Amino acid sequence: MTLAVAAVALMAAAQPVQVASTRVLVDSCAYFPQLSADGNWLLYSTTEASVLSLKNLNTGAVTTVADQGLPGFDARFGTDGKVYYVTQQLGKGNLVYRAAHVYDPATGRSRQVLKPQHGPVYVLPASKGLAIVGESSHFVTDKSTGLYAYTRQSQLYVVGNQGQCLTSPAGECAGYLWASVSPGGTMVAFEAAGKGLYVTDLAGNVLHRLPSASMPVWLDDAHIIAMTNTNFGAQRDKGTFIYITSLDGRQVQPLTDPEEHAVQPMVVGNRMVYVADGGQVKEVTLRWQRSDNAPSGAQPQWTPVPKSNRSDAVRVFINPGHGGHDSNDRPTPYYCHATGEQTAYYESDSNFKKGLALKEILESKGYEVEISRYDNKTEDDLDLFEISALANHSGADMFLAIHSNATGIERKLNFPLALYRGWSGEPCVAGSDSIARCIMRHLEGNHTTVWTHPSRIYGDWTFYPNWGYKTGLGVLRYNKLPGMLSEGSFHDYLAERRRLNNDDFCWLEGWNFSVAIDEYFGRKGTCATGVVAGRVIDLNADSPYPGYKFGLDYCPARNGVTLYLEDAGGERLVSTMTDGLDNGIYLLRDVKPGRYRVLCDADQDDRAVQYRDIYVRPNATTYCNFSY
Ligand SMILES: [Zn+2]
Repeated sequence: MTLAVAAVALMAAAQPVQVASTRVLVDSCAYFPQLSADGNWLLYSTTEASVLSLKNLNTGAVTTVADQGLPGFDARFGTDGKVYYVTQQLGKGNLVYRAAHVYDPATGRSRQVLKPQHGPVYVLPASKGLAIVGESSHFVTDKSTGLYAYTRQSQLYVVGNQGQCLTSPAGECAGYLWASVSPGGTMVAFEAAGKGLYVTDLAGNVLHRLPSASMPVWLDDAHIIAMTNTNFGAQRDKGTFIYITSLDGRQVQPLTDPEEHAVQPMVVGNRMVYVADGGQVKEVTLRWQRSDNAPSGAQPQWTPVPKSNRSDAVRVFINPGHGGHDSNDRPTPYYCHATGEQTAYYESDSNFKKGLALKEILESKGYEVEISRYDNKTEDDLDLFEISALANHSGADMFLAIHSNATGIERKLNFPLALYRGWSGEPCVAGSDSIARCIMRHLEGNHTTVWTHPSRIYGDWTFYPNWGYKTGLGVLRYNKLPGMLSEGSFHDYLAERRRLNNDDFCWLEGWNFSVAIDEYFGRKGTCATGVVAGRVIDLNADSPYPGYKFGLDYCPARNGVTLYLEDAGGERLVSTMTDGLDNGIYLLRDVKPGRYRVLCDADQDDRAVQYRDIYVRPNATTYCNFSY
């Protein structure tokens, strides 16, 4: 809320912009509005990008531009008055292919301008016309498009007639978004996730760094309009507002009332359109002293634009939920009986360990992976709208949000839950239900834990009926990737909370995700080795945690137990040990396929040694539990 406070404080000092008039253009359920250059047409999307509509603001007539392949969210008008939009479809191996089209309001017809290709396709405003950029091919509306800018992960591309300039002005982060060239053609603004809103010259030298914001757009060469980025961890877009800031951040003025929950600003000339609560599109006319004093800045080192950056690798976007050990992180302490100490559990820690493990495993299996955070600090807890935008922008083939669940009450439940956007059985994005089924089957197959119930799969609109029609999870709203949010298990089920504090147990969930993801994409032979995992418990003692009666969770886990892996010849290959956090979990990675014996030595005493003969398969887990 720092920004809101700053904005209010500064509002009294200066009011550079007056909101001259306001009118409602669409009553409800319209998102990502775009006003045509002549102000006569409005383009907008449904909340799930399923329909792209065009409204004639003079007659009030509404026509459907497209309703196949999620055409919404990123469509734009060209300077020719035509509509340019991107659709997506699942192709071979469940890869997502994106194509670009142009719709002519005069004829009511669409035609394809960029054929379906793997990876992201961006529709970008240029100083003259539009540029549509894909990895395999580009399309421009005008012979000389002038300047345009876009981002890929933590890189800023500025493209002109002389070539492109590639820089990384904000350094590495979860990704850059919403790059655009200033009206005077000398600056670029973009958001670096978790770091702030940056203004650079064309060569990537940072001129200004402002607080984080979403969807920044230039009003003139001295002002940017953006939406606040302060709903850290909140489920809905409540309290967001649109404001104008001078480039140095000294003058900040709200343009909408926080009660309107305004989002998604877009500017043409002195008119701004945005979305108010309930999807109402409003247009305001602004009156201010226009500044056309564009600084000159350093000239970029232009390099030739490569014809193709094509990569056929399957891409996955991972979002380890929460971050920063603060209030929305569900901090839940527990008393460790073995050590006699209070141990903190944070959902953000286990989500992060699972996500990082999944990233490393997938990369070793030949995937390309983007992840929404590289650390667990407050600034890593990105705005949910921004995470959705990063996911869409990545052009990935799959989105996975990693969480654990809590009942919040005294019910003792433990099972995996998958939520995708839409109604149960009717996901908004094709493929999401297949992903959910693969992932739930592989999480449920984890025998180091105790499940009280089978896994469950829901559409989030069905699962949260009290949130309002088509509201659903914040991180899936405006997210067009096939995918889901996983609540891998329940961290308020005490035995499970102890397991989630074990690094190997978190790694195992990441590994199980990876095997499920291999299955969804039909990729075989991605990993030549297997995993051995299990849990060691004591049947002869009562659990210090009363009421946990399911499976073998009524008895305590054994700490500090040594386990050995022997090959068929009886040679001890590796050993490991259960930790001191009352979970009894052990895990052995990178085990070559074949026959082995697992020995479990509970207290360095031959009488306490148990063994079991196992067979390890590639890209699979062999579970081997021990009880004393
Ligand atoms: Zn969570």
